[in-house]
Amino acid sequence: MFPIDYHEPLFRPPSEARSLILQTTLGCSWNKCSFCEMYTSKSFSVRKEDEVFAEIDQMKPYADQVRKVFLADGNAFVLSFKRLHNLLAKIHEVFPKILRVSAYASPRDILAKSDMELKQLTEAGLKILYVGIESGDDELLSCINKGETAKSTIEALQKAKKAGIKLSVMVLNGLGGRVFSRQHAQHSAQVINQIQPEYLSTLVLSFPYGQEHFQNRFKGTYVSMNQTELIDEMGMFIQDLELESSIFRSDHASNYLVLKGVLNKDKNLLLERIAQVLKDPEGAFLRPEWLRSL
Ligand code: SF4
Repeated sequence: MFPIDYHEPLFRPPSEARSLILQTTLGCSWNKCSFCEMYTSKSFSVRKEDEVFAEIDQMKPYADQVRKVFLADGNAFVLSFKRLHNLLAKIHEVFPKILRVSAYASPRDILAKSDMELKQLTEAGLKILYVGIESGDDELLSCINKGETAKSTIEALQKAKKAGIKLSVMVLNGLGGRVFSRQHAQHSAQVINQIQPEYLSTLVLSFPYGQEHFQNRFKGTYVSMNQTELIDEMGMFIQDLELESSIFRSDHASNYLVLKGVLNKDKNLLLERIAQVLKDPEGAFLRPEWLRSL
């Protein structure tokens, strides 16, 4: 039997499929984004340090197999510098072959730490932060109640990068519907260009509790988009990206069109693929709706 009992629901990025997941916090400390239902069933709390350390100790029989650790839940990086530093030291003590530790973070969690603290966390083994920025458009960020702006996002992510932390950034395709589509694509690309993340991915807005539920929480006019409009928005976004070397993926289950490449090296290839799909949507291999809901 696996030694750790998780507090469900539990989420992790796809690239952490082979990582040991340690739940250091429960839920999301913000928990107010209008599109997000990941942690609405949980109240946010910080787990006791000795409980988490006991779970790490329970993994001792498997210590040599643990190469990657992902800190859950929603924004485990909200933990104080001291708590994170102690945790990283414990992880390295118990798992001698550990290569990296990662976590979800919000821009505000990064900004709450000094440059020196971020650097010390990197040196202690914190290598990647996953940040769902969702959009770079301030009007839309306000509509979804993200509690962040383009400025806070850029400032925080540049700060983390300067400290040597790799960034995996998520943008939400279709987030503002038809009304915000162009400005969402253009301003998101502008923010991403200023961050130059190592990894960039897009997911598509979905409605786990139905569209009406989302619309009631969206503080603006939301007009839903069809597949072609969503893919057109992706085209506008990619068109405006000016990246040195970011690994790009739109392969999350929510996407209709799977795109993969390194930007900007593969920008023209991706744009050609999008143009082909827009020209002949019927002939394109788009992920069927039933597969998106799995
Ligand atoms: S900060 Fe992230 S996890 Fe928290 S409510 Fe917003 S999208 Fe969801």
